[in-house]
Amino acid sequence: MVERQSTRKAYITVNAEKCKGCRYCIAVCSYQIIGVTNRLNQIGSIPVEVISTRAGLCTGCGTCALMCPDTAISVFSTEGEAALS
Ligand code: SF4
Ligand code: SF4
Repeated sequence: MVERQSTRKAYITVNAEKCKGCRYCIAVCSYQIIGVTNRLNQIGSIPVEVISTRAGLCTGCGTCALMCPDTAISVFSTEGEAALS
């Protein structure tokens, strides 16, 4: 697989306390930017997190946020910090 160079034009944040650990977001990200943590959150789920070493590959496509049933993911552009979804 050809890896994109890090352009850091977009990034995501995960609200770990809202995440129920369904992992839909992991399944849809083509760049494997999201991974599972090793802890429980306040609702008793194992939340996901951004993998810091892969975060720079984010295109800002928003698919992870669209797939999240709990609106736990936000997508931002680094150019003006505008929310993409
Ligand atoms: S916005 Fe797209 S590229 Fe970025 S983490 Fe979500 S699915 Fe992956
Ligand atoms: S799709 Fe949403 S609720 Fe499911 S694991 Fe990802 S962030 Fe958590």
